[in-house]
Amino acid sequence: MLKDGHGRIVNYLRISLTERCNFRCQYCMPEKPFSWVPKENLLSFEELFKFVKVAIDEGITKIRLTGGEPTLRADLDKFIKMICDYKPSIDLAMTTNGYLLSEIAKDLKKAGLKRLNISLDSLNPKIAKLIAGKDVLENVLKGIEASLAVGLKVKLNMVPLLGVNDREIVDILEFAKERGVQVRFIEYMENVHAHSNLKGMNGREILERIKEKYEIEKIGRKGSSPAFLYKLKGSDYIFGLIDPHKHDFCESCNRIRLTAEGYLIPCLYFDEAMSIKEAVKQGEIDKAVEILKEVLANKPKENRWGYATSNRAFYETGG
Ligand code: SAM
Ligand code: SF4
Repeated sequence: MLKDGHGRIVNYLRISLTERCNFRCQYCMPEKPFSWVPKENLLSFEELFKFVKVAIDEGITKIRLTGGEPTLRADLDKFIKMICDYKPSIDLAMTTNGYLLSEIAKDLKKAGLKRLNISLDSLNPKIAKLIAGKDVLENVLKGIEASLAVGLKVKLNMVPLLGVNDREIVDILEFAKERGVQVRFIEYMENVHAHSNLKGMNGREILERIKEKYEIEKIGRKGSSPAFLYKLKGSDYIFGLIDPHKHDFCESCNRIRLTAEGYLIPCLYFDEAMSIKEAVKQGEIDKAVEILKEVLANKPKENRWGYATSNRAFYETGG
């Protein structure tokens, strides 16, 4: 079992498979970075898998693939299959912008993927384009339908932004409800890479928009999830709110992040990171486990979104 320096059990590994992305979301990567990490500097799927195996042996039971845009990595389905064959009971999920899903959802499902979070910030093609930097809505919607059709369990992620998509909170909720999928409203997290003019909405403001049309009931948090769950009164429909500015979910944080370049990051907010790349490349897997334990020992108690702006790029860490 893996524990951090505050006694929290860590059983959840989030792997960013690439920092590259086919979108330029205003809140994440409004401009193409000055340079991408060269492909030869990334850990290959074989190298990543070496680490994933020991991480599972040490107590990781849940893995999320993210990015950047994870669907840009070739042979993604083969990597998923490697993990699922090694540990069939692993809770393996992926977060994606959905743009390429209609082409690959079937292969991902066949490889063993069970759950997907798909980002959907707007149902209006012009607003979706404004946020993502290109015309994306049609493909994203096709990707959502294709994923549902092959039996993947889908959740939707929306980041509400004042004056941009804030009038669509209820539309996205209803779109999700009609398809029997949960939506997670995520507070915009300030970071130096985002477009400087953005104004996010806090959890209370997001709920106010929903309350204009629906009565809602509090459910609470499930396990270590950062999402606080709510239910629409008089129906079974559940949605979640992720409000890191309160950082009250940090006390049950169970996660650690690995970047495509091999950096282990103990908290999405903080700059601290240690690389397992050389250890993995040299086949010194015990050394990689030692580094993992050192990073966990130094995991901060809570994030700082309540009072500062992060230097971390979401497209590197995977959000
Ligand atoms: N490209 C994939 C996607 O967009 O779903 C996966 C990576 S993305 C970094 C993961 C999640 O982080 C997405 O749901 C995205 O909306 C969210 N995200 C990115 N930047 C954010 C920010 N500044 N504040 C809040 N959420 C953010
Ligand atoms: Fe790409 Fe996802 Fe970041 Fe948007 S949020 S730029 S889709 S990594």
